[in-house]
Amino acid sequence: MHIPSPQKLPERLRPREPFITPEDLTRAASDPSYASRFVDLLISTGRMKAVCGEEPPLTPEQEAAARAIKGGPGGDEYTGPSRCALWPRHPRSHYAALRHLDPHTLWIKWRYPIGQLLILPDCDAVNDGQVCTHWLRHPGPHNYPGQGP
Ligand SMILES: [Zn+2]
Ligand SMILES: [Zn+2]
Repeated sequence: MHIPSPQKLPERLRPREPFITPEDLTRAASDPSYASRFVDLLISTGRMKAVCGEEPPLTPEQEAAARAIKGGPGGDEYTGPSRCALWPRHPRSHYAALRHLDPHTLWIKWRYPIGQLLILPDCDAVNDGQVCTHWLRHPGPHNYPGQGP
């Protein structure tokens, strides 16, 4: 049976969303930066949601860097990535804290399969003596220990 391409279908039969072609998927599998932009497109057009729960895609080089960065006297040792701080659902990229460096915090910001290390100043919001554990100017509500998800 011959299946016409979407562009050749009469207007009323055309899919409302652009098709994801096999070529898109093949290229996404072999080109990480294309995959990242492709997932951005899927999320921005509502075809995919940034659902937390996946491991941050930390490379061995990034992990070595996370261990090696020198923090201040009140900083923490590297203990491995935590889950996404914006859990469970949010627009745009995931963020997981890697180490508190004193005074800033080392984060990994990712959209599978690409992760980027960032040193970000801490959020300055305080509630009832508790300090928000996110970074400065984070999206969404503040996060206070003991009141988290
Ligand atoms: Zn997330
Ligand atoms: Zn905050």
